[in-house]
Amino acid sequence: MTIPRQVCGALVAALLAAAAIVMTGGATAAQTPDDPRFTPGAEGAGDAYFPFAGNGGYDVRHYDLDLTYTPPAPAPAPLAGQLSGVAKIDLVATQDLDRFNLDLRGMDVQSITIDGKRAAEIAPPAPGAVVEGRAYWQVQDDAARVWELTIQPRPKLKAGERAELVVRYGGATTRPTDIEGVLYGWVTTRDGAMVVGEPEGSMTWYPVSDHPTDKATYSLDITVPEGKVAVANGLPAGDPVTRNGWTRWSWEAPDAQASYLTTASVGDYDLRMSETASGLPIIDAVDDALTPGNAAITEASLALQADMIAFLEGAFVPYPFNSYGSIVDDDSVGYALETQTRPVYSRVAREGTTVHELAHQWFGNAVSPARWQDIWLNEGWATYVEWLWSEHTGVATAQESFEEIMAIPADDEFWELTIADPGSFGLFLSPIYDRGAATLHALRLEVGDDAFFAGAQEWLTRFDDATATSEDFETVYEDVSGQDLGAFFDTWLRTPSRPAI
Ligand SMILES: [Zn+2]
Repeated sequence: MTIPRQVCGALVAALLAAAAIVMTGGATAAQTPDDPRFTPGAEGAGDAYFPFAGNGGYDVRHYDLDLTYTPPAPAPAPLAGQLSGVAKIDLVATQDLDRFNLDLRGMDVQSITIDGKRAAEIAPPAPGAVVEGRAYWQVQDDAARVWELTIQPRPKLKAGERAELVVRYGGATTRPTDIEGVLYGWVTTRDGAMVVGEPEGSMTWYPVSDHPTDKATYSLDITVPEGKVAVANGLPAGDPVTRNGWTRWSWEAPDAQASYLTTASVGDYDLRMSETASGLPIIDAVDDALTPGNAAITEASLALQADMIAFLEGAFVPYPFNSYGSIVDDDSVGYALETQTRPVYSRVAREGTTVHELAHQWFGNAVSPARWQDIWLNEGWATYVEWLWSEHTGVATAQESFEEIMAIPADDEFWELTIADPGSFGLFLSPIYDRGAATLHALRLEVGDDAFFAGAQEWLTRFDDATATSEDFETVYEDVSGQDLGAFFDTWLRTPSRPAI
C-alpha cells in the first residue's frame, strides 16, 4: 500500500494499542458433548493484531463469486449502493469439524447450503448451548469489530474432507473503515466502487476466511448496469455479456491469492489491453473523470509498467502471475493498494507509486505476511524497489536514499517504532516503509550485493504462493550469507532507536 500515514504521537499510538486489546469475543462455539473428537474451528486465524480475522479448522481452495451491483443514484442521493452475491466456496476441513466460521461484515445472509443441503438460520446460541441439525447464524458486533458467520454442517466434516458451501447474501454497500478509521473494503463511490481490502476488509463484500494464511484461487462474475466496467484480478473469462440493461464481467484469478488482495472495482473506466515484450497481458482501467493533470501523470506512469516489470525480473525472479495492469479510480479513498495482478490507485498513478505497487506483486503478494506484524516485509521491500528504480532512472542512488533516512535525527520519534512488531495501529506508519527499506539496504551492506540478491531470490522461491514471517526472512539470509545475523536484525527490527552505521 502507499502512501504511508504520518507517524502519530507515541502516546496516542499507545492508547490506541491498549484499546485494541479490549476487543471481546463474539460467537462462542461449544464442544459437542456426544462426540469430543469433532470440535469447532477457531473464530480467528490466530493473528495477535486482528484476532477475529480469518478462521481455523479448514482451508479454502477456491472462491467463485457471482455479484450483482447497483451503484448509488446521482447526488444528492445517499452514497450507498446495493450488492447481492452468491459465493460458492470450496474448502477442505483441516480438523474434525463440528462447526466453523467465515468472516462477513455488513451483509445479510439469505441462505446457505453445504454440499447441496440447506442449513437453517438461527439466532446466535448461548455459549455452550448444543445446536441440533444443520444451521448457521451471524454475529455483527460493530463496536467490538466482530463479524462472524458460523456454519454447523451435518454430517460433521472429517479432517481432509472437502465441502462446497453456497452462501446467498446481500445488502446496502457503504463506506467501511478499518481499525484506524481509514476507508477500505467495498468503498462505495458515486460512479461505482473502489475495492481495497487491506488488512481485513474483504469481509465487507464476500464471506471469506479473511487472513493471508488462507490463500485461494478466485473466479469473479460482476454484473453491473450497462455502461459500467467491473475489473477484478487476473484475466477476463470471455467477453462481457450485456442483456436487458446489465453487463456481466467475468474474471479468473488462478494463482493463490490472499483475501486482502482481491478486488472487483466498478466505475466509468476506459479499459485497455496490451502486452509486454515477453507476452505478459497488461490490462489497465483508467477512470474517464481524472483531472487532465492527473490523467497525464497516470498515462506516463502506466506506459512504464512493461519496463518496470523487466527491471524487477532482472533483479529478482520472473513475474509471479498471469497478468498485470492498473485500476486508476477518481475517488476519495486517498491511497493505492497492490491488489493481486491489478493494483488500485486513487485519482492518480505516480511513477514511484506505480513501481511500488508492482514490487508488491513479488513482495507481499507472491510471498505474503504470515502475521500482520510482519508487514515491514511488504512495505520495506516495495519502498526499497522505489529506491532501486530511482537509481536505475538516474534520480538518486539507493545509497543516497538510505543516507536521507539515516539523516533523520536520532531523537526523532521516527526511530521509536519497532518495525517487526509495530502494533495493529502501526501497520502503515512511515517507519514501516522507510526504516524497512533502510533495513534492507543495511542488510545489503552487511552481506554484500551477491548474497543480498541471492537471498531475495531464495525468499521469493522458498515461500512462493505462501506466507512467511520476519524470522523466516532472517533464516533465509543466514542460510545464504553463512553469517550470524541475529544482532543485526535485533538492532534494525526490534530496537526502538536509530541504528549506528
Ligand atoms: Zn505498499
